[in-house]
Amino acid sequence: PHEADVEALQHADVAALLPRPAPESDKYRRGVVGVVAGSARYPGAAVLAVAGALRGGAGAVRYVGPAAEAVLAHFPETLVHAGPPDKAGRVQSWVIGPGIGEESDALEDVLAAEVPVLVDADGLRFLTPRRVAGRPAPTLLTPHAGEAAALLGRGREEIEAARLACVRELAARYGATVLLKGSTTLVAEADGPVRVNPTGSSWLATAGSGDVLSGLTGSLLAAGLTARDAGSVGAYLHGLAARRAAGPDGAPILASEVADHLAAAWRDVT
Ligand code: AMP
Ligand code: MG
Repeated sequence: PHEADVEALQHADVAALLPRPAPESDKYRRGVVGVVAGSARYPGAAVLAVAGALRGGAGAVRYVGPAAEAVLAHFPETLVHAGPPDKAGRVQSWVIGPGIGEESDALEDVLAAEVPVLVDADGLRFLTPRRVAGRPAPTLLTPHAGEAAALLGRGREEIEAARLACVRELAARYGATVLLKGSTTLVAEADGPVRVNPTGSSWLATAGSGDVLSGLTGSLLAAGLTARDAGSVGAYLHGLAARRAAGPDGAPILASEVADHLAAAWRDVT
């Protein structure tokens, strides 16, 4: 790829893409996002993914998984569902993976759904190009370098040394949109320019911040953004929120505080 194959969104681009409820809108028309996250071992991942999803502009969030109690304790706004994802009611997108551990049964269901799906974290461990290729709707993968290395069957250092080439290769191999996280976040598809995120902060290198990003980005998918736009707008807002949370001189931040600053980031853009 050449230099010219790279582009960056600016405030005005993001502002134009942000979903806003029309006067006659209702919560279903704004989009409903389904979140499959968390486990007995990692209930916090569910809470953080739901936090991102609630702040992402969808009209409602459905949570499916074993951490419903923790999710509701933090966010009574969440619609929680027992049982498999395909029994949870209509959604306009699915987010699957943060903190699910070995619990991969739901992945089959979610990948079969005729709506965009974001796969992150543990969900990526059970993915194969074949499982993605047959999907009836777009798929967005959001690996960090270690997860990208596993998807490509290479070492992490190889990814870090050639991030641009690797994110493109992943997109082509999986037939998906790929958001590669890290010090600069990249969003790629098999064709077209790679989007480089111009916001962000190294304070984001903290446990749980990726879970917030996956919920947020899934919410943007539910609101109707394309996978490329949802990924790049999600990364943009996430980075601005981290800067807001860390303050002008910087300070350690919590992933939950990144979620708490998403509304401020949204206002910064518009
Ligand atoms: P995860 O690895 O899934 O927890 O996600 C970590 C989040 O923090 C992603 O959004 C990364 O892009 C971001 N991040 C991690 N390290 C850095 C860094 N050094 N500079 C900027 N962002 C980072
Ligand atoms: Mg992660």
